[in-house]
Amino acid sequence: MFNVILFGPPGSGKGTQSEKLIEKYGFVHLSTGDLLRKERQLKTHLGIEAQKFVDKGQLVPDEVVIGMVSSALDENLNAPGFLFDGFPRTVTQAEALDRLLELKKSEIPVVLFLEVDEEELIKRLVNRGKTSERTDDGDENIQRKRQQVYKKETLPVAAYYAKKKKVVTINGMGSIEDIFSRLSASIDKKIAD
Ligand code: AMP
Repeated sequence: MFNVILFGPPGSGKGTQSEKLIEKYGFVHLSTGDLLRKERQLKTHLGIEAQKFVDKGQLVPDEVVIGMVSSALDENLNAPGFLFDGFPRTVTQAEALDRLLELKKSEIPVVLFLEVDEEELIKRLVNRGKTSERTDDGDENIQRKRQQVYKKETLPVAAYYAKKKKVVTINGMGSIEDIFSRLSASIDKKIAD
């Protein structure tokens, strides 16, 4: 099993690039943001409670997200590998993921870190809000809050994996195709290692 974490701030292009990467490599896409939106559509208790955090630009509590990921891993026992998108977002989640993968005799060989300037991120997210149906896009104040939460709670996750020498930084500015080529080259290199 070859797993990849696609890491980066909100608006860095993780969702767009994930779609292309799963098509090319056959990963099972595991986006906690998508899973939460699905719960919300189904109007489950979890979905309704989680939405209160999402709409404020805050993180959903770790235990909720870790439970969802654990179930998704169990539902895909024969996956050739997972592409984690928007997870882990806290060090507690990263530690839990290590434990969950260890139980499956698997691990995270690489974390691809998409780097994008903050003003470009806000611009992309506000623009996305004009067309997307996401309730947490569009409002610039919520976007700034999401960037703050990212820096405070999520950036330490990069340090967690950097200590294990797993982080590869990718320039996330430029065209979708150029960024995809950079990501693919890093994955191919890791697979060949
Ligand atoms: P995303 O689609 O990854 O941008 O996620 C949208 C929102 O869902 C985030 O702003 C959080 O409120 C929530 N969320 C998604 N993934 C996580 C996670 N791993 N931990 C906590 N909250 C999350």
